[in-house]
Amino acid sequence: MSKSEPLFGRIALIGLGLIGGSIGHAVKRAGLAGHIAGFARSKETRARALEIGFIDSAHESASEAAKDADLVILCVPVGALGPSAKEIEPALKKGAILTDVGSVKTAVVRDVGPYVPEGVHFIPGHPIAGTEESGPDAGFAELFDNRWCILTPVPGTEAEAIKALTAFWEGCGSNVDVMESKHHDLVFAIVSHLPHLIAYNIVGTATDLEKVTQSEVIKYAASGFRDFTRLAASDPTMWRDVFLNNKEAVLEMLGRFSEDLAALQRAIRWGDGDMLFDLFTRTRAVRRSIIDAGQDTDAPNFGRNPTHAKSVSKK
Ligand code: NAP
Repeated sequence: MSKSEPLFGRIALIGLGLIGGSIGHAVKRAGLAGHIAGFARSKETRARALEIGFIDSAHESASEAAKDADLVILCVPVGALGPSAKEIEPALKKGAILTDVGSVKTAVVRDVGPYVPEGVHFIPGHPIAGTEESGPDAGFAELFDNRWCILTPVPGTEAEAIKALTAFWEGCGSNVDVMESKHHDLVFAIVSHLPHLIAYNIVGTATDLEKVTQSEVIKYAASGFRDFTRLAASDPTMWRDVFLNNKEAVLEMLGRFSEDLAALQRAIRWGDGDMLFDLFTRTRAVRRSIIDAGQDTDAPNFGRNPTHAKSVSKK
């Protein structure tokens, strides 16, 4: 990605973990901002972010970081978005764009919306990219390359502001889609939240088993279990907040999932091989479509983490 004229004079990153850090790296790679101001709760995170160099200045309060920023991006867990917005409200500059990266959207509109001052453009966002790692060392510039970023502007948002934020995410390597927050939450309940819930559950069940030892679970993990452990290693704070804040859509999808699981249980009990074969043939085709759409590779770790990809290719 080549460097261009900065789209924004000053960007503020509130939260400097995997997503905040990756945004910082991607912004620097493409030269999208004149200055990146950063805030994180802990002194250690702020110091590490400065040392790595994905921010230009570290601030002890979120409002100090947000002051004079043309674009403010909230990159903290969903449950902390409302309190963060409340804190920076008095510091937000007229004409600034305020956005977030939270994995749920209706709750963000509910929690952040009340703290958006007149003249500030609030556009919720969700980059569809991540790894199971957290913290400032986890970020990398390529995280958003060829991934989707979804914006869920509230009705009445100025088109120019949406255009500017779209250009920003495109500059970070993403493709941008716009949808309603409620629709977003339903879609992600099935494609992201439910799979994580299932992974947390299966890994929890396996570790509670009494007749199969923990060492056997680890030793034979490559049989399928291993793929669930990647999801189940995701950040506990982030995922607790996702389930608490997308309750309705997750419960709706969980209800459907449970019905389908009961049908599979019945097919196994009655030896209905045709039913199992038909389903497994359909699901195999879904996997192929995802690879064909460029949203995955056959490489381990989804080919997303360049450090890992390098170490794998050496083998
Ligand atoms: P992360 O690596 O754990 O970083 C979180 C950052 O938020 C850290 O700087 C942390 O500060 C700060 N923070 C944590 N709790 C806070 C609180 N209560 N108040 C204020 N600041 C707090 O998390 P992440 O993966 O970047 O996730 C950030 C956001 O991105 C979440 O809303 C998540 O839903 C969304 N998201 C994540 C992914 C993913 O795969 N990880 C993908 C898409 C979107 P300290 O370092 O000082 O503790």
